[in-house]
Amino acid sequence: MSSGEFGSMQFVVLSGPSGVGKSTIVDRLIRESPVRLVKSVSATTRAPRKNEVDGQDYYFLSLDEFTRRRLAGEFLECAEVHTSGKWYGTLKSEIHRAAALGGWALLEIDVQGARQIVDNFPQALTIFISTPSEADFERRLRDRGTESEEAIQKRLATARAELAEAGSYRFQVVNDDLAQTLSEITRILLEWKDKA
Ligand code: ADP
Ligand code: 5GP
Repeated sequence: MSSGEFGSMQFVVLSGPSGVGKSTIVDRLIRESPVRLVKSVSATTRAPRKNEVDGQDYYFLSLDEFTRRRLAGEFLECAEVHTSGKWYGTLKSEIHRAAALGGWALLEIDVQGARQIVDNFPQALTIFISTPSEADFERRLRDRGTESEEAIQKRLATARAELAEAGSYRFQVVNDDLAQTLSEITRILLEWKDKA
């Protein structure tokens, strides 16, 4: 993929183990950030959770449809996540949408996707979210109550591999107190904007 098409675009990439609070942070940032952010709605082959809305939380695609669009070059990045056979990806059309709205594209994606973005767009601002301890994201994941025990075990196994990548992100933020996390990320965004 050539970086030319989106060479002047600013990307904000958030990653971190399942349950650390990424979606919660994204929802708040979209509403409250002083820097205009546009959430990139990812496509996925996993089933919607109750309360998830197609086109808002994700574009829920069949594996056939996802594969067809992947082969047609419609994704900026994509990956099979959680060794579960489920695919996730960022559609180029989402980045066009962010550009049209004059905002920075906010991507909540896994470490494999983040690597693809950084390789193509070195200007990307990457932030890794973690919790004070592994027990915290496991508890949050269980309390969220959206995953089967099998899915939780897969997510915990993936989390260990993801945590090992934290050092390759520009910034690391520990999501202990949510308000503090949001103000730290806001400070990072404003500093980045000053540098841009
Ligand atoms: P992720 O998107 O990283 O999988 P979520 O945003 O779904 O995580 O958060 C997992 C659970 O943790 C949710 O129930 C959310 O309300 C809760 N949560 C998020 N941030 C915090 C925090 N700072 N302290 C305690 N609970 C949190
Ligand atoms: P969940 O199933 O909990 O919504 O997301 C599972 C994982 O998929 C998370 O680590 C999340 O960051 C990642 N993910 C969500 N969207 C994308 C995407 O578009 N690309 C990639 N590479 N990962 C994604």
